[in-house]
Amino acid sequence: MDNLQQIQNLREELNRHNHNYYVLDKPTISDFDFDLKLKQLQDLEVKHPEYLDANSPSQRVGGTITKNFQTVVHENRMYSLDNSYSKEDLQDWEIKIQKVLGNVSLQYTCELKYDGASISITYQDGKLLKAVTRGDGFQGDDVTNNVKTIKSIPLQLRGNYPPRFDIRGEIILPLEGFEKMNQELLDIGELPYSNPRNTASGSLKLQDSAEVAKRPLDCLLYFIAGNNLPFTSQYTGLEIARNWGFKVPSQSKLAKNLEEVFEFINYWDVHRHNLPYETDGVVIKVDDFNMQNELGYTAKSPRWAIAYKFKSEQVTTVLNSISYQVGRTGAITPVANLEPVQLAGTIVKRASLHNADQIEKLDIRLGDTVFVEKGGEIIPKIIGVAQRGSQADPTKYITYCPECHTELTRKEGEANHFCPNFYGCPPQIIGRIQHYISRKAMDIEGLGGETVALLYENGLVKDYSDLYELTVDQVIPLERMAQKSAENLVNGIEKSKDIPFERVLFALGIRYVGETVAKKLAKHYKSIEALRQASLMDLILVDEIGERIAQSVIEFFENKINCYIIERLKNFGVQLELVEKFNPDATDKLVGKTFVVSGVFEILSRDDLKKAIEDNGGKVGSSISAKTDFVIAGENMGPAKLEKANQLGIKIISENDFIEMIKGNA
Ligand code: AMP
Ligand code: ZN
Repeated sequence: MDNLQQIQNLREELNRHNHNYYVLDKPTISDFDFDLKLKQLQDLEVKHPEYLDANSPSQRVGGTITKNFQTVVHENRMYSLDNSYSKEDLQDWEIKIQKVLGNVSLQYTCELKYDGASISITYQDGKLLKAVTRGDGFQGDDVTNNVKTIKSIPLQLRGNYPPRFDIRGEIILPLEGFEKMNQELLDIGELPYSNPRNTASGSLKLQDSAEVAKRPLDCLLYFIAGNNLPFTSQYTGLEIARNWGFKVPSQSKLAKNLEEVFEFINYWDVHRHNLPYETDGVVIKVDDFNMQNELGYTAKSPRWAIAYKFKSEQVTTVLNSISYQVGRTGAITPVANLEPVQLAGTIVKRASLHNADQIEKLDIRLGDTVFVEKGGEIIPKIIGVAQRGSQADPTKYITYCPECHTELTRKEGEANHFCPNFYGCPPQIIGRIQHYISRKAMDIEGLGGETVALLYENGLVKDYSDLYELTVDQVIPLERMAQKSAENLVNGIEKSKDIPFERVLFALGIRYVGETVAKKLAKHYKSIEALRQASLMDLILVDEIGERIAQSVIEFFENKINCYIIERLKNFGVQLELVEKFNPDATDKLVGKTFVVSGVFEILSRDDLKKAIEDNGGKVGSSISAKTDFVIAGENMGPAKLEKANQLGIKIISENDFIEMIKGNA
């Protein structure tokens, strides 16, 4: 098989696996094998740049930087939709249609209205050509490079597709992925994103497509525009698009009349909360294309389609007061304290107000009656003032920290105010220790967030290094503590000295250093000492470490108090160096076997191969001898070595054989 053939086969295979995994949700290959094949393809593509293809599945990892997105005119205009809010609205709509079409029997395709950012993707000869945002409907931004990183979007179509067409859909951020992203932000002391829709559309405009590739975006398709399409109705169009490889949700339904449309609406009004993504209504479309053509468009929207908006659950209540919370990094978040009210099955007492700008925008004042709504966020939000209260003075945002009375700062371009009293502000001190002991960090058994606050309030700890000096006798007098629980607490702290360096690094709570970044830094620098000495330039050169993170690490170590705390941790025996014994992939499959690695390899680098041998208990020999059990031979293995191996009767295996061997299939 020649190289081109091999490259094409791998591409075809990887496209198929992407489709199985991301569109059908039925993977037929392990992640490990997928990654191996991808690596194989990437290596071949590097060796044969003449076969480069912008639509190769290897391009999905991103890496292109777009400073300015090109404006592109839509080949087919992107309309918006008329809205309706009641069954009567829909009946009126049907009457208008019948005025144009006469009393024909009408069928409707009912679809969910996905709440994300709309996108138009052009395919030429089955290949993704460009992806453009809606913009003003006439022209949008070319975000092709970012869109290609979304794995459910096919780069190459299958079946009988027309030579050129646009397909429309919604780029969404499924709730689970959104929550995960927010958790990661909270882990590094950042404020969470406010909702999936804005985060999805913001993602499309990121300059670095590698960043987009990391976000768990998805794309749901619902409309095809083009000439000579091989179908004549919306519903069959959806089915056919699915066959070409697109992700078209299965919930759509063909309704024979408005009654059935209402059934669909009633069903999804309730069940939409079980979907993995957000929806804000139903879109109803006249199914037949001839009828659609006859109905045509208004200046803004098709006459043959209408959106039915679900009523978001909304109530009014009184704003009693605003409190200001101080986070672990000093960020201030205003919270509305409300007269308790029933909303979507729970009693709501508090609502998020985000920041000073939001309060100003809503012009919300104490005593006002406000509208409260439950959107995608967990905490309900205030969406407006229903009636001005009697104490109608405009709300003045605080200028001093409510906890430590330090004057607040607000950096240019940042939405939130900050308390700069890093080492003296109680919630910041407590927050940092709480982060240190949390499950993903030091995971200290027997110690919870409330106890941390108690320890601090009783003067027993003022930073996380003080934890290691706590004694059972000191802890017992605390509220809800007894001999046993105090012992557990002290033992739990003692045990945290075994937590590996990478997690300690995360636990330190350096701004922007989340779990993944901590792992990267730990692996690269191997000790806190080496990391402390790294310059800004050094840090930026580490894979995936940008300037923002690098700067934050530098600032952390410039601070004398931090260095002092770290010194103390070191003296207590906390792991501040990498001990390379921990490896989740390690087995003892190769114990007692000695390998010699020779030649050039396709899938794994020589270093990776050697590491894999050692991780699985084997030994790496430097030259072939009677003690050698296997020679792993790559391309260009020297003839002398080959002869020697043959003479000694040593087994010669390929890298694929080796991979099979550690996976346990050989
Ligand atoms: P609006 O933004 O309220 O004018 O609603 C129109 C938008 O709804 C379209 O531009 C699409 O982005 C979006 N949308 C979501 N789901 C669908 C769907 N199933 N069919 C058509 N449009 C949809
Ligand atoms: Zn403060």
